[in-house]
Amino acid sequence: MLLPMFDFHEPTSIDEACEIMATYGAKAKLLAGGTDLMVNMKKKILAPEHLVCLSRISSMQGIEEKGDQIIIGGRCTVAELAVESLVEKKLGALRAGANALGSPLVRNRATIGGNIGSARPAADLPPSLIAYGATAMLESRRGKRALPLGDFFKGPGFTEIDVDEILTEIRVPVPGPGEGAGYINLGVRKAQDCNIVNVASFIALDEKDGCVKKARIVMGSVGPTPLRAAAAEAVLIGQKPDQRLFIKAGEAARQDCTPIDDFRGAASYRKAMAGVLTKRTLDIAYRRAVGA
Ligand SMILES: Cc1cc2nc3c(=O)[nH]c(=O)nc-3n(C[C@H](O)[C@H](O)[C@H](O)COP(=O)(O)OP(=O)(O)OC[C@H]3O[C@@H](n4cnc5c(N)ncnc54)[C@H](O)[C@@H]3O)c2cc1C
Repeated sequence: MLLPMFDFHEPTSIDEACEIMATYGAKAKLLAGGTDLMVNMKKKILAPEHLVCLSRISSMQGIEEKGDQIIIGGRCTVAELAVESLVEKKLGALRAGANALGSPLVRNRATIGGNIGSARPAADLPPSLIAYGATAMLESRRGKRALPLGDFFKGPGFTEIDVDEILTEIRVPVPGPGEGAGYINLGVRKAQDCNIVNVASFIALDEKDGCVKKARIVMGSVGPTPLRAAAAEAVLIGQKPDQRLFIKAGEAARQDCTPIDDFRGAASYRKAMAGVLTKRTLDIAYRRAVGA
């Protein structure tokens, strides 16, 4: 399968990339690892006239802690997320998502910006990023803006990014004492296939009485975008965490999702598994929150 014809641009700075995106607008596509875009171009689903490659923009690389945030460059690879000690120590749920994504070959090329930008409902990184309360930093010639990742996705393949904008970095609040998150994905095979259900849960415990004061549960593959499990979160707030409570939250999460039947799994199976994974990710989040 041949690729359609396109002009190739290799900017070396964000400003230069913004300039090119402003010039070509909807005729241009950003190219990061290419593991999603190239497949779509080979299948003739997309045929951009201009590809704007991000690989020479060094300011979009790296992972660092700044104050109360961890800043992840938009073209940081999934392989880097999987091995970076800061991610392992402080963002265990994101690391689990990175380790679950594709194969080593795919992880070496795939980027966090591309995983978010492709807006696949079954993607491995958005659920934990949303659960942590991450913000996407977007840049264009018109300026910069910060968008909470929870407000970012509009539907399969559709996001709030304007055609000339670049996701330059992701900012994740550093989990404090009494806070923790977990992520689990369920797929047909170990690698190279879409998830059937994937869930991330974050909880924050009240330091005085140990009750849950904040909860964010995000389910993937059970709706057109990553979905917040609002009813499950409501079950948790103000309660002492224990197994019974987490099972109850899992039951509520089933009602929070709207999965479809497809060849990977029936809607009823997906609903049931959304409940199971919610309970299990809450177990992990709780253990991390209490440092167990
Ligand atoms: C064999 C195989 C297995 C896979 N398995 C998984 C899996 O298990 N889990 C999973 O989640 N995904 C999987 N994928 C999908 C894909 O690898 C990931 O979504 C990957 O993270 C995409 O990143 P990329 O850098 O390659 O994106 P690209 O293909 O370069 O880009 C994808 C989209 O995002 C846009 N984009 C890229 N960077 C930016 C940016 N900085 N700002 C704004 N828009 C941007 C592009 O314009 C394009 O529309 C798999 C793909 C393949 C081919």
